[in-house]
Amino acid sequence: MLSLVHSIRERYLFALDQIASAARKSGRDADQVRLVVVTKSQPLEAVRAAVEAGARIFGENYAEEGVMKIQSLAAQTGVEWHMIGHVQSRKARLVAEHFALLHSLDSLKLAQRLDRFAAESSRTLPVLLEFNVGGEETKSGWDASDESKWDALLPELAPLFDLQNLRICGLMTMPPLGNTPEDSRRFFRRTRLLRERLATQLPGADWRELSMGTSADYAVAVEEGATLVRVGTAIVGERNYELEK
Ligand SMILES: *Cc1c(COP(=O)(O)O)cnc(C)c1O
Repeated sequence: MLSLVHSIRERYLFALDQIASAARKSGRDADQVRLVVVTKSQPLEAVRAAVEAGARIFGENYAEEGVMKIQSLAAQTGVEWHMIGHVQSRKARLVAEHFALLHSLDSLKLAQRLDRFAAESSRTLPVLLEFNVGGEETKSGWDASDESKWDALLPELAPLFDLQNLRICGLMTMPPLGNTPEDSRRFFRRTRLLRERLATQLPGADWRELSMGTSADYAVAVEEGATLVRVGTAIVGERNYELEK
């Protein structure tokens, strides 16, 4: 356990350092970037070790696995849980009840279910809208791969703002897998430009958060304006895929 804490702490501090230099490089304040440690398919011991190592925000992809961890670590104060994976509609209640932020809202139908369940538990669920900026068929999110499609997004997104128990606070993206971190840059930039466009067209809404960047490319994401980076393997190591469902 001690050596696990030690190695996670080293990698966690290294990631914070990388974030700080990427922020400096682009004239940003490192305080504007929050590091989400992705613990999907990692055992509880790894999460406990990461808490011990100083991590405070965790990202999970599977609702039930996430809720199990949230409940097991309930005694840990100051720990925050984010849902970062695609949410199936039958898992909407779990997400609405247990998570501090949903990064991956990808449809109106899901939004309506989350809104209803959030209302039932008397809470407001903060959410980010997921955009597919690479145009890949297999990726979730509203299609924003081409700037010519951006205007058509507005009427599609408008009904989301009527949902009283959701609070939209930004955008999220997962670019196509590249060979080098630089391959992601244009997708991150596109997402930042989309945020600027949405902020101009829907100025009443809050577009502050930009969730982008994984182990492969988080430094580039910070240079392009990320406020949340989602880093798994580079901090907690390879995933135990047997846990995945
Ligand atoms: C798994 C996952 C990550 C983290 O990926 P790593 O390569 O382990 O850093 C980030 N974002 C999403 C949406 C993921 O599913």
